[in-house]
Amino acid sequence: MKKSLTYYVKTFGCQMNVADSERIAASYKNRGFIKAKTLTSANHIVIVTCMIRGSAEDRVYGLVQNLVKKKAKSRKIIVTGCMTGMAVRDKSGKFIKRLKDRMPEVDEFLPIEEVGFDTMPLRSNKKIAWVPISNGCNNYCTYCVVPYTRGREISRSFEEIINECKEVIKSGFKEITLLGQNVNSYGSDLVKNSKRGYKLPNGKIVKPIFVKHLGKKRIPTLFPYLLEEISNLKGIKRVNFISSNPWDFSDELIDVITHNKVISRTIHLPVQSGDDEILKKMNRWHTRDDYLKLVANLKFKIKNLKLSTDIIVGFPGETKKQFQNTVDLCKKAKFDKAYISMYSDRPMTLAHKSFIDDVSYQEKKRRWNILDDLINKKAVKTQLRHLGGGPEGLPRGGGLKE
Ligand code: SAH
Ligand code: SF4
Repeated sequence: MKKSLTYYVKTFGCQMNVADSERIAASYKNRGFIKAKTLTSANHIVIVTCMIRGSAEDRVYGLVQNLVKKKAKSRKIIVTGCMTGMAVRDKSGKFIKRLKDRMPEVDEFLPIEEVGFDTMPLRSNKKIAWVPISNGCNNYCTYCVVPYTRGREISRSFEEIINECKEVIKSGFKEITLLGQNVNSYGSDLVKNSKRGYKLPNGKIVKPIFVKHLGKKRIPTLFPYLLEEISNLKGIKRVNFISSNPWDFSDELIDVITHNKVISRTIHLPVQSGDDEILKKMNRWHTRDDYLKLVANLKFKIKNLKLSTDIIVGFPGETKKQFQNTVDLCKKAKFDKAYISMYSDRPMTLAHKSFIDDVSYQEKKRRWNILDDLINKKAVKTQLRHLGGGPEGLPRGGGLKE
């Protein structure tokens, strides 16, 4: 009898990449492949890449180099994820050339879009089911490579998400985490032509909720409806969502959370900086005051709220005083956990084109330690479980991020 071929998926980065990896694994299984016990023994090695920071990218180059050192018969190396996403979108062709030059041994660069949502993922986490609700981002924060690696935001259909959630519950999961770069703008592309209202799969016609962008309420979203419908599904015990931009966290969303006990009381609300000038340079559409007001409102309305955040230290030009404003904001917001990153200059981004990465590594590290001591040392016991554990991208679990 012919022996089945084996596969192994190695994932770098955030939960979105974990969710993509689960769909890749399913497509291999459906084609008769068997999961290899180890990475090096697999016939097909799929590397799901991340490039949110330079260090994440370097880990991929390092892995491929190590693989090449170990010669193997009938082995295929496939690279997908954010690095391939960037290569597909870079019309100059420079990025794909760079990838091919640095990793000539790679057999295939696979755009993640080709994997699609047609097959049910082979879930790796036995307790929490990751369900992507949108892909990409329209925000263009100046430091961030995501809009270039994943493209503009595209929402999955309301019906498709509900069906996946029902399927997940049927198969025994009690906890779901909804994933999107910014869940608060979910559906803005779906409701473009529905001025009179949007018809939900249950037949109900709803008015999209408008959230702020560029300082005005102008982005329509269906997220509060989606969250409510999922939390009402029979058999669900916990619904989480990541990530939420602070400037478009609507009152309607707060209402849905307060009225549905199955929605997690742990909210991830990335602040990035506590200094207005830096926030502006980052193209974040909130001020420190807006943020603190939102936190106060959330704490007032949601009992037992636990708050986590993302912070970047050492953004170009960040002075000691500006950093101190971040420290001060953290003291006021009383975060339970923070995912702190040292600024990393990323290709294509506006920060890369406009600013100099002028805060030294030592100074970034010093600032990182101050915030980590302030927020995370006391938070060890808090364990915000739904955020999982891992090093890059959408937060997965503390650790030093370079
Ligand atoms: N969409 C999510 C974040 C995705 S990226 C959001 O907006 O909240 C996850 C985190 O990585 C960001 O919140 C940010 O803190 C960090 N990050 C992104 N780009 C970075 C860069 N160039 N250098 C350092 N940290 C970065
Ligand atoms: Fe989008 Fe988040 Fe990146 Fe900003 S930080 S561009 S919101 S993915």
